[in-house]
Amino acid sequence: MKKPYQKYVTFSGRLLIVGFGSIGSGVLPLILRHIAMPRKHISIITGDKRGAAIAKKEKISFRIEPLTKKNFKKIIDASLGVGDFLLNLSVDVSSVDLIEHCQKRGILYLDTVVEPWAGGYADPTLSLSDKSNYGLREKILALRNRTKRETTAVSCHGANPGIVSHFVKCALLQIAKDTGHHTAVPGTKQEWGMLMRDLGVKVVHIAEYDSQTAPAAKEVGRFENTWSVDGFYSEGINQPCEMGWGTHEKNFPADGRRHTHGSGAGIYLTRPGAATLVRTWTPEHGAFFGRAVTHNESISIADYYSLRKGSKTVFRPTVHYAYRPCDVALLSVEECLGNVSIQQKEQRILMDEIDRGMDELGVLLMGHKKGAYWYGSQLTIEQARRLAPYQNATGLQVTAGVLGGMIWAMEHPRAGIVEADEMDFKRIMEIITPYLGRMTGRYTNWTPLANRKAREDSSADFTDPWQFNNFRFF
Ligand code: NAD
Repeated sequence: MKKPYQKYVTFSGRLLIVGFGSIGSGVLPLILRHIAMPRKHISIITGDKRGAAIAKKEKISFRIEPLTKKNFKKIIDASLGVGDFLLNLSVDVSSVDLIEHCQKRGILYLDTVVEPWAGGYADPTLSLSDKSNYGLREKILALRNRTKRETTAVSCHGANPGIVSHFVKCALLQIAKDTGHHTAVPGTKQEWGMLMRDLGVKVVHIAEYDSQTAPAAKEVGRFENTWSVDGFYSEGINQPCEMGWGTHEKNFPADGRRHTHGSGAGIYLTRPGAATLVRTWTPEHGAFFGRAVTHNESISIADYYSLRKGSKTVFRPTVHYAYRPCDVALLSVEECLGNVSIQQKEQRILMDEIDRGMDELGVLLMGHKKGAYWYGSQLTIEQARRLAPYQNATGLQVTAGVLGGMIWAMEHPRAGIVEADEMDFKRIMEIITPYLGRMTGRYTNWTPLANRKAREDSSADFTDPWQFNNFRFF
């Protein structure tokens, strides 16, 4: 007989899922499996009919009513009150406004990205800094300073941003063990920063290679991907390339800009991340060029591990995403950029049509005694299908993170506004690991400087091999 799924927590409140695209549809069965709550307490409000058949099959109330700046308070208040849960898996809905409202009403909250209202990325009155993930995160931090640390709101807990923050902690402890660096498990932000610094880690890549393919070629005029097309377009093309900026860096990028407010943990480049190639490495694929697409975790991880002496930051790692999207998404990006960055009218998220491939998603920590260490999830499409319905390998890595974050929030309902780096990594790893395929840790002597042509290298200063010089400018 099949073993029943473990219920990690009992939740007596109501749950409203806002947005029911690839991630919403994928997480629903995981919620039903692992959180003890009546189905009738769950409802979905979304922007279009996608996912309606899944909601019907799972007997969950489903309504199309896009949230706007005008109507969102009324819609939330009609569905939720103190102690209930809002799970925001939409695009085009302001995370800041939703969190602020949930804080006022005592409603638990989780999202996977900081989103503005529709049009927020294309607003010509906003600067690149305002549109950046740094700028959006600063708004969440400002809200956190304005609110009392009461009802829990988890900001950005999918795969990345999300569970990769927990991978960083696992990787640091493994490197400490393998290099004979005796340490207890750090208990504070300061202790984690000191551990990273003492191990010599200077650079963290979120290194992801998505090799999922479908037999049919990409259609001309259609943006295809393994997760939100709108989400990828926003972060890859509308927002600027961004990264957490390490204290060891000697060469400032020619089109690099510093933000004039906030933590100072990150910088941005005046071009999109989808058009910015960076060298990186994963165990399955070895060395490859990824895209330095902006992500919240590039800034939050850099900030979390920062060490300060008075007002001066004395240690901070360089952190950035290096994303090799699936083949059709790469073609879609090229088509879009070639069309002066105007998004294709049609879109498709690959699901049942995927015939093979893996999402290899992990963190690559560089600069320590053993060179570089990658730690993360190698999840094939076949494994993903065996583990859970309605999603591909990319989606399952994200939805496992959503599930883990929700359970943590239900277990800690009075933690205020938190980011992944501040949550209990051990508890969340326990919940998500069964859904991540093969968890792999691998050392490599690869560096971003490996196998560069002599001509290319001759102009660079390599006194510090970890300098941030692995960008290739178009
Ligand atoms: P999707 O494009 O498949 O679905 C988006 C959903 O939002 C749709 O159901 C749409 O109807 C709904 N929506 C749009 N406007 C709305 C509105 N005004 N009110 C209510 N609902 C609205 O996206 P997805 O792949 O499911 O991703 C959902 C979110 O998660 C996106 O913001 C995406 O960027 C984010 N994401 C995060 C991670 C991560 O690892 N952190 C990974 C993948 C996706």
